[in-house]
Amino acid sequence: MLTSQLGFTPALAVLSVGEDPASRSYVAGIRRACDRVGITCRQIELPYTTSEAELRAEIGELNAERMVCGVLATLPLPPHLPLATLADTLSPDKDIDGITPTNAGRLALGWPTFAPNTPAGGMEIMRRYGISIAGKHAVVVGRSGIVGRPMAMMLLNADATVTICHRNTANLAEIVRTADIVVTAAGRARLITGAMLKPGTTVIDFGINFPEWAGSKMVGDVDYASALPIAGAITPVPGGTGPVTNMMLMRNTLAAARMLLGDA
Ligand code: NAD
Repeated sequence: MLTSQLGFTPALAVLSVGEDPASRSYVAGIRRACDRVGITCRQIELPYTTSEAELRAEIGELNAERMVCGVLATLPLPPHLPLATLADTLSPDKDIDGITPTNAGRLALGWPTFAPNTPAGGMEIMRRYGISIAGKHAVVVGRSGIVGRPMAMMLLNADATVTICHRNTANLAEIVRTADIVVTAAGRARLITGAMLKPGTTVIDFGINFPEWAGSKMVGDVDYASALPIAGAITPVPGGTGPVTNMMLMRNTLAAARMLLGDA
């Protein structure tokens, strides 16, 4: 339908710089999701040695290419490439993961925008399960631009009272114990245990960790076994927030494709 209206199949460009095994399975999942909704997934793999100028040039081409409705960069970038290079160059209209200052600013102001897919997925999980947010105390552990910070903004926009914790927070356990909603995006296995939770609290765990003690299997930031009997609702890892991230990505990409229709 969208394709016939546009006269071409819209594409999502997935840009990676350097080899990252974790990104490979992420991109494979995106490819499958794109196939299901009828979007072309165009994978762009730049070498690790890509310079800032080369990255800017590549993004500039994607900005100009009409068939590309959205651009997603897999993170992390190599250390010599600041995320700001990418975020400052990408067109906000194609920024379907909400990394540009324009879209992050719009989110902070509570305006409609492309919000980052991972935290948007956390919000969608709570919406689907009927977890009310307004007036609740939400504690977000982690303040990265792609997960913790935008999650805090989304919770604030949904009328929660929000506390943001990070690696320098002195009294994490004390603060988490006051939360009605705990969101973790720290990348630290067993950071949050059942003993730190108020009974009935909602726990959204974005953490992805592969600790030796778990036989290098994937675990979240929350000690699931001790948290499960205390929490009112909890996302498991794996299988919790991860799959919803791709759904949000498809939603944003389709919204960006519809914006192309406005230009047609
Ligand atoms: P990041 O390293 O950029 O940020 C981690 C944040 O956690 C920082 O703000 C840091 O201050 C905080 N932190 C670290 N140790 C802490 C501690 N001991 N106490 C309190 N705060 C602490 O990471 P990120 O990119 O935001 O990712 C966070 C986690 O979420 C990672 O495990 C990542 O793999 C995962 N992730 C999941 C998804 C998903 O779809 N589920 C998507 C992206 C990232």
